[in-house]
Amino acid sequence: MSRKKIALLGATGSIGRSTIEVVKRHSDRFQIVLATAHNDYKNLLTYAEQLKIPNLIITNEGVKSKINTDKRIYFGENELLKTLDSLNYDILLNAIAGSAGLKYTIAGLQCKHTIALANKESLVMAGDIIMKIVQENNCNLIPVDSEHSAIMQCLLGNSLSSRVRKIILTASGGPFNNWELKNFDKITIKDTLQHPTWKMGNKITVDSATMANKGLEVIEAHHLFGLKYRQIDIVIHPQSIIHSMVEFIDGSILAQLSYPDMKIPIQFALSYPERISESAKFTDIATLPNLTFQKVDYQKFPLIKIAYWVGETGGIMPTVFNAANEAAVSLFLNEKIKFIDIYKIVDNCISKSENISNPDLKTILAIDKKVKKEIFSKSVN
Ligand code: NAD
Ligand code: MG
Repeated sequence: MSRKKIALLGATGSIGRSTIEVVKRHSDRFQIVLATAHNDYKNLLTYAEQLKIPNLIITNEGVKSKINTDKRIYFGENELLKTLDSLNYDILLNAIAGSAGLKYTIAGLQCKHTIALANKESLVMAGDIIMKIVQENNCNLIPVDSEHSAIMQCLLGNSLSSRVRKIILTASGGPFNNWELKNFDKITIKDTLQHPTWKMGNKITVDSATMANKGLEVIEAHHLFGLKYRQIDIVIHPQSIIHSMVEFIDGSILAQLSYPDMKIPIQFALSYPERISESAKFTDIATLPNLTFQKVDYQKFPLIKIAYWVGETGGIMPTVFNAANEAAVSLFLNEKIKFIDIYKIVDNCISKSENISNPDLKTILAIDKKVKKEIFSKSVN
């Protein structure tokens, strides 16, 4: 059996590391032929050694002078774009954090490759463009995000998608679901980074705490599954055992369950359309805590409402939302603003932005840069 060749972007992050574990577990099936990192060359070199990865790229050229190795490493965004075009691989797993991942998703699709997409920002910013290329080039775009993987799995095996009434994205509610709103003013970075059920990179952990992450996932689901926004619901499920659900027109609901471990959706995206033996712990149903569900409190988590609005509005608005949120989260992580300011910055930025309909990729990338620049420059003053 020939091994599936994987191009792994963002190999040193949380999803990247889980992917490395899946590949180690199934080294007879998978082979990483390209791995990238932005700064963390030490871990990249370790993985390259362990898994005999032949092509390595560091996207941040500024790191070049720090590295002393006899391994061949290439540097820079353009080098990565060129390599995605010329290298022989079967599947591109995009696990880069933030808007930086978008151009590589597009590059992979333009070369008609299968994409396993963790980088939800790609679909948030350019869902229309991406889904058009997917259709025109007849490519597979397989979600890695656990909720979207769950929905894809609930829809498998039948022509079920046309019989969907709605989908229900589950959300853990993050660390502040049980906090009173009046105490949100006192939230610290440490409080924010203690996610109750998932271990993830810092940016998405903050997004889970504000629930902007669920908002981004609503937009992601709209594009992936071709659903209207009113067909996408969110329910708080603090145990993170049910990863999402699909309700069909006959009232039947299908759900996908497991312990929260990203190795499961990552492996499914890599092995699809097959299922292969486990990389994560099997779920012991009888010993699970009670599974509970609650409505979302939009007063505590107003970014979700804004996400629905920008999604419905379309055009450049989802890009503005994403960029403002990325900039605000970065300021929060650098102790420049408070937790509650994240919402204020995003809300303010959305209300003063003018929409541009049907933006092309160049416009999307330019607006992303402009919004972030404005927010960062204000924080210096
Ligand atoms: P992370 O911060 O842990 O890792 C990010 C990776 O991207 C690193 O390898 C880093 O080197 C690389 N990177 C950062 N900036 C870059 C840039 N400008 N150019 C190129 N590479 C860059 O992030 P993560 O938690 O692994 O998340 C990665 C993506 O997966 C995000 O889009 C996130 O929303 C999504 N996701 C993550 C999880 C999770 O459990 N961590 C779950 C679902 C979806
Ligand atoms: Mg998710």
